[in-house]
Amino acid sequence: MITVVGGGLVGLATALRLADRGHGVTLQDPAPASGATHHAGGMLAPVAEVVYRQEALFPLMLRSAELYPGLLEVVGRHTDLPTGHRTEGTLVVAADRADATHLAELTDYQAQHSMTAERLPLRQARSLEPALSPQLAGAVHIPGDHQVNPRMFAVALLDALGNLGVRVVRERAEELPAGQVILANGLGAAALHPGLQLRPVYGDILRLGVPEHLQPLLTRVVRGFVEDRPVYLIPRTDGTLAIGATSREDDRPIPRTGAVHDLLRDATRLVPGIEECDFLEATTGARPGTPDDLPYLGRVNEHLIVSTGYFRHGILLTALAADVAVHLVEGTDPGIDLAACDPHRHTAHQE
Ligand SMILES: Cc1cc2nc3c(=O)[nH]c(=O)nc-3n(C[C@H](O)[C@H](O)[C@H](O)COP(=O)(O)OP(=O)(O)OC[C@H]3O[C@@H](n4cnc5c(N)ncnc54)[C@H](O)[C@@H]3O)c2cc1C
Repeated sequence: MITVVGGGLVGLATALRLADRGHGVTLQDPAPASGATHHAGGMLAPVAEVVYRQEALFPLMLRSAELYPGLLEVVGRHTDLPTGHRTEGTLVVAADRADATHLAELTDYQAQHSMTAERLPLRQARSLEPALSPQLAGAVHIPGDHQVNPRMFAVALLDALGNLGVRVVRERAEELPAGQVILANGLGAAALHPGLQLRPVYGDILRLGVPEHLQPLLTRVVRGFVEDRPVYLIPRTDGTLAIGATSREDDRPIPRTGAVHDLLRDATRLVPGIEECDFLEATTGARPGTPDDLPYLGRVNEHLIVSTGYFRHGILLTALAADVAVHLVEGTDPGIDLAACDPHRHTAHQE
């Protein structure tokens, strides 16, 4: 029996892949999908989310994007519930000329790393998304960056686990369970395995309802730079729109008034129709960050596999996390170099 501790998207997908392969699995979480997963945007964006000088992340993100269709196929074999997966691609736009310069530099950097991002004339961007402001200064299309709806996906995964007979124990793990364990409880992992250094990086995110007469306001993810501030708008299959996200390490887990204001102002600059939408929700989630912003993913000893620290990319990296866990359990080659993800790498520095 394998116990997966943590039922965020990472733990849920890991439990599913293992159960699908015939392993006996128990999932333990007092409130599945209540962590970062509940708040996430859900972009599967290995190209648009490229982070300068984080080269060790790129192969992980690209590999996970490749693995996503396979994960969704397994999910689809065990549940009929939707995941909110959309493949229309992503537009990245610039609000003013300085933002356009920034966007051009980013596009060059992506090209240097063999990533596909196509510059688009604004006229063409607006024919793809007529709700875009006519005042923009630049646009790029990234066909390979997709999205899921994390809340919907988590419900589908829980249903699939139920159909596979996986036992879900709705209790907090106060210590490591006996037997084979996969520690996938996000920020909570440090309490169960000392040596992991995890910090909450808060993100505010908004949810709007698009009124009937404006549907669909957008058909693909629109990301943008507005006076150097990043913002994104994610149209969901349920007709809502997510707008995110801030990034702050101030230990204040409640939406900040200034953050809500900034997100709405910047999103409206890119898509003026936002002003007509219904305001449904503002929430704040805590991304599980590590000192070098790379995950902790690997086998620690014969009983324990660690899978956490997915920071800004945990929805995208879910497919990789689940696939690697299966290989680690079965003792086969995951087919990717995981040296940068060694769960012990910060323990050594402490000693
Ligand atoms: C605003 C925002 C936007 C984001 N947007 C994106 C995005 O667009 N794309 C992307 O790829 N990523 C995004 N992220 C990052 C992503 O949300 C996280 O990296 C991802 O959700 C991490 O998933 P997880 O399963 O590891 O952790 P979590 O979702 O945090 O789940 C951890 C689970 O562990 C459980 N738990 C904790 N302690 C215990 C314990 N002791 N015993 C049992 N269970 C326990 C909790 O109840 C929780 O359900 C975003 C994050 C935020 C905050």
